[in-house]
Amino acid sequence: MPKEFLIVIDGPAGAGKSTAARILARKLGYRYLDTGATYRVVALKAKEEGVTPEMAEELCRLCAQIEIKFEDTDDGQRVYSDGRDVTETIRTPEMSMLASSISRQKVVREAMVDLQRGLGGPGVVAEGRDMGTVVFPQAEVKFYLDATPQERGIRRHKELLTRGIPTALSQVIEETIKRDQDDQNREIAPLRMAQDAVYIDSTGMSAEEVAVRMLAEIEKGW
Ligand code: C5P
Repeated sequence: MPKEFLIVIDGPAGAGKSTAARILARKLGYRYLDTGATYRVVALKAKEEGVTPEMAEELCRLCAQIEIKFEDTDDGQRVYSDGRDVTETIRTPEMSMLASSISRQKVVREAMVDLQRGLGGPGVVAEGRDMGTVVFPQAEVKFYLDATPQERGIRRHKELLTRGIPTALSQVIEETIKRDQDDQNREIAPLRMAQDAVYIDSTGMSAEEVAVRMLAEIEKGW
């Protein structure tokens, strides 16, 4: 049995990180950690409580109280907020934009980074925006997954349609680009490629092909 690594994947929205991470985790028998989901859960709770992204104190209280849990089932991973299954509710375009806005707040990032570090470790594939740079700089294997904005928008659009959320493709592409700009330009933990990450452009590749490519990189280190 080869040594277990902590594998991290960063990149912009729609680059295919979550599907590739899930496939990779399955192939290796690792656990999958979706860190974007943690920000989405906070965003949902904030919205339900009338807390806006500018209200740092309320967000701090909310992060201290909220219980975020993941559960692996035969139907994929479920996400729970204070015991409530929010797997689908957190995936709307509104929650994507709100998660991006609240993730700029220092108090939110500190709480989520703590939570994520508790869930990560050897035998985990973790994906997000700051995995290789801030949360797990010690990770043995780092990838930065990218694709053209057009292709990323098309993928998100397809995903939303599959989830029964009809939206115009042009709007999805616009929101994807806006979210990337916000994530790249924020002050704390902006989206950046770690210096020691392997860059993969997934444009024109299937998620399976991306996972196979990643596996080939990982095997170099075994
Ligand atoms: O990956 P996902 O699209 O679910 O992430 C939603 C938002 O959460 C991102 O646009 C980003 O602003 C934020 N996020 C983050 N750091 C992470 C993961 C997600 O800031 N590690």
